[in-house]
Amino acid sequence: MTPRDTKALIAAAEPAVFWSDNPDAPEPRPPLRGPLTADLCIVGAGFTGLWAALQALEEDPARRVVLLEAETVAFGASSRNGGFCEASLTHGFFNGLSHWAQDLAILERMGADNLDAIIDTTRRHGIEADIRRTDQVSLALTGWQVDALAEGAKIYADHDVSHTLLDADGARAVADSPTYLGALVDHGSLALVDPARLAWGLRDAVLALGASLYERSRVTSITDAGSSLTVSTGAGEVSADRVVVATNAWAEPVRQMRRYIVPIYDHVLMTEPLSGTQMAEIGWEDRQGLADAANQFHYYRLTSDNRILWGGYDANYYFGNGMGPSYENRTASHELIADHFFDTFPQLEGLGFSHRWAGPIGTTSKFAAAFGCRYDDKLAWAAGYTGLGVGASRFGARVALDLVDGLDTERTQLEMVRKKPMPFPPEPLRSLAIQATRRAIAKSDRTGRPGPLLRTLERFGVGFDS
Ligand SMILES: Cc1cc2nc3c(=O)[nH]c(=O)nc-3n(C[C@H](O)[C@H](O)[C@H](O)COP(=O)(O)OP(=O)(O)OC[C@H]3O[C@@H](n4cnc5c(N)ncnc54)[C@H](O)[C@@H]3O)c2cc1C
Repeated sequence: MTPRDTKALIAAAEPAVFWSDNPDAPEPRPPLRGPLTADLCIVGAGFTGLWAALQALEEDPARRVVLLEAETVAFGASSRNGGFCEASLTHGFFNGLSHWAQDLAILERMGADNLDAIIDTTRRHGIEADIRRTDQVSLALTGWQVDALAEGAKIYADHDVSHTLLDADGARAVADSPTYLGALVDHGSLALVDPARLAWGLRDAVLALGASLYERSRVTSITDAGSSLTVSTGAGEVSADRVVVATNAWAEPVRQMRRYIVPIYDHVLMTEPLSGTQMAEIGWEDRQGLADAANQFHYYRLTSDNRILWGGYDANYYFGNGMGPSYENRTASHELIADHFFDTFPQLEGLGFSHRWAGPIGTTSKFAAAFGCRYDDKLAWAAGYTGLGVGASRFGARVALDLVDGLDTERTQLEMVRKKPMPFPPEPLRSLAIQATRRAIAKSDRTGRPGPLLRTLERFGVGFDS
């Protein structure tokens, strides 16, 4: 066998997002020019903004809803993700258990209802987003991960979470990797989706319901005008009774958000379609969503045309909440995860990658969404789902609507909504703390034991994840 030339493989991949690199992408709407009035103005048209618009209009079709998007619909994380649409609202059951144990039964029920509602919405609005339910499987690659999954299975059993614990042979029957030592299967908590098609379908649905959408319209300021708020893009202005800010990792234009949200760049590869022989060699007949059980983990899935999406592991933070196109092409990260891909599936050696990209994950110190209100609750923001916002963003949008509408609901009573996570420190401490935590996480993945820094962070219920 010739030695693997990862550099050449990555150089040959298109630096573009597979999901949105598609002739079906909608034509952008023109930018906002001049003044407008609205009942509800939504800033950011990713999943959170789109779900806020859809739910607001389905509830009250007469509501005048304006969406302002800095780039184009789903330009951010919403088109760049793995398409794992999970029921969990808490970045997984175990993260929920460690932060919001007293509310977890409610959160799990709301999460299951939320996933049902997403699938139902695609049916009602005829959204062709290739959404399908499947199991999700955590794979153990080391002895300590086997133990951790067994411990996890016990906790699932105590909480009646439907699951199956597999040994190495069982894990290799899911998909054939020589690295698998065991697995924990979650039943009923995942749907896989084409995220760009979901976002575009939501866009069409909200336009059909009467929303106004302005793209390439970055909001630069929001000011209080008494009974309304003035949302300004420079070239235009919306006077709105209520505002929902759905800018996630950008954490703008509300300053408060930047205390709680940091952007983390997560990297993804898409392979060329596998041949029939290659598919037979890896098995994976049930096409589950897979991820390994390390703290720094890879997630992977099949597409409808039998490519493998392979992402995660190397999540990067840049000084001062740094964001922009220059962070989307980090070749070293793509080469690193490409090597991991072939370590996992050596039988696919020689397969090429068609696309490579990265995107900004908005994370909080509790790895799940945070919520805030400003201007006498005329404005609410929802952001920070970390790597699990495809499903949770619909719930986040619903909470933001409850908050701006002044509703006292089961959702707004949740501690997760009432209490913000611990803020990140300002720079330069922010970078230093995140880099130190990343090093500690990498070490704990090697040793299977949390070091002193991780133990201290755990004690305070905070951390860093993707
Ligand atoms: C590489 C990657 C993989 C992921 N994989 C998964 C996964 O498999 N499953 C999962 O559940 N989650 C995943 N996530 C996370 C998930 O994609 C996000 O949590 C979710 O899409 C967040 O949606 P959002 O609308 O809140 O944010 P975004 O989609 O980021 O949308 C924010 C929007 O706001 C706009 N904006 C920013 N500033 C302004 C401004 N000033 N004015 C107007 N508009 C503005 C941006 O242009 C952007 O379109 C992944 C994320 C990434 C990056």
